[in-house]
Amino acid sequence: MFIEEGTLFEQSSPGRTGYSLPACDVPKPDPLPANICRKVKAELPELSEADVVRHFVRLSTYNYNKDAGFYPLGSCTMKYNPKSADAAAVMEGFAKSHPYQPGETVSGNFQLMKELENYLSEISGLDAVTLQPAAGAHGELTGMLVVRAYHLDKHKNPRKKVIIPDSAHGTNPASVAICGYEAVEVKSNSDGILTPEAVKAIMDEDVAAIMITNPNTLGIFEPNIKEIADIVHSKGGLVYMDGANLNALMGIARPGDFGVDVMHFNLHKTFATPHGGGGPGSGPVGVKKILTEYLPNSICHPRPPKAEGSHLWTLDSSAVADGNDALSKSIGRVKAFYGNFSVLVRAYAYIREMGGDGLKKASELAVLNAAYIKSKLIKCYNLPYSTDALHECVFSDKVQNEFGIKTLDIAKRLMDYGMHPPTIYFPLIVHGAIMIEPTETENKAACDQFCEAMIKIAEECRTNPEIVKKAPTKTFRRRLDEVKAVKDPRLKIARACG
Ligand SMILES: *Cc1c(COP(=O)(O)O)cnc(C)c1O
Repeated sequence: MFIEEGTLFEQSSPGRTGYSLPACDVPKPDPLPANICRKVKAELPELSEADVVRHFVRLSTYNYNKDAGFYPLGSCTMKYNPKSADAAAVMEGFAKSHPYQPGETVSGNFQLMKELENYLSEISGLDAVTLQPAAGAHGELTGMLVVRAYHLDKHKNPRKKVIIPDSAHGTNPASVAICGYEAVEVKSNSDGILTPEAVKAIMDEDVAAIMITNPNTLGIFEPNIKEIADIVHSKGGLVYMDGANLNALMGIARPGDFGVDVMHFNLHKTFATPHGGGGPGSGPVGVKKILTEYLPNSICHPRPPKAEGSHLWTLDSSAVADGNDALSKSIGRVKAFYGNFSVLVRAYAYIREMGGDGLKKASELAVLNAAYIKSKLIKCYNLPYSTDALHECVFSDKVQNEFGIKTLDIAKRLMDYGMHPPTIYFPLIVHGAIMIEPTETENKAACDQFCEAMIKIAEECRTNPEIVKKAPTKTFRRRLDEVKAVKDPRLKIARACG
């Protein structure tokens, strides 16, 4: 396809319209006062409805999305999102409710939120949940603010440091730093796990918490988590869990049972909401009883109906007023209104549809799919850590380096096979990491197709490395300077085959 420069976005044609209205048959109103009128005509594009629809549909085909195919982006849990959850979120009562509406008129919304809090409590083994944070990273910030408030209250001293493993996601040290803590790195061992000895060596009474991802970003369950939690607790510290990998644990193990005091959930990962591209997310935070009084409490404490059989949920008005924050130990509000409500509805619908057994099955299948893919690709790709992993597996480009091929080339070549690449160059402890998370929603045929493509690419690396280095050749865009594309986007002039 060849498209001339400029034609993609500049399609306006003078006189074209997207409407047809009957002639005006009412008296013309008085003209607007001259001082508020435009001096120069607004430059609005003139297009027909069909022009506009085709423009946006065409643009959408240059992108890739979960409904288009396999999307094994490790750590992101890009599972298929059932349309039933979307259908629930667009129901009028949910979609059209307004945050300033009187509480009595949105009773059902409060009931849904309270029940979702309860489900997340049950899934995680924690005592209370706030639904306010808008993303995982926002949940980390909220959780760390709770940790800080706890230490200030209990020890009159917030403490100074937070221990974070070397395999952690970049948001972890960032959240800790925003809360005024110093991130102290602890190294994983050659099996890709944390040892109690390594934690013990740096744990002291200046440490506010350890922030740990479990299973970790290699997909490996931290087998020493309970012992590590005991070490941290014995010095008065708290255990924060990054819950982004909860998709491996649902119905199987509960963070609250293995020593975690506070964690965030990524509803847009584990509990099925379309994400990627910066769409709305939700990062609720769950805590043990000792931390509940520090949670954000200013917005919503839904109160169940007083009498049995009555169906009206309301807000606990004593908790609504902002001024009330000063009286409590709460960290205050972290988000306007009720959090990203439409994401909460989707997560609720998903949990209700799956049920406890269904969630457990999802985790089991997610683990099975990752193990299956690992067993097929291990012949062609280097596996830096051979420890059994759960819902994702991390390979490297070590074998392909011999032929001058890097992880980026493999990822780009996969696009020519019509698939979204896995996460690359993360976790940082694996040089040239290729992090594959198939999720439970892919069937065996889809996993096989992906493995076939990866095996073929490994073969191409040996026999025809140039084709891999030149990839992608079949996408609308070839290799972009990705940093420049973000920092200095050229949105108007588009040239095909660029
Ligand atoms: C996705 C992710 C985060 C951050 O979550 P967001 O919802 O993207 O802000 C943190 N840690 C890990 C391990 C993740 O995969």
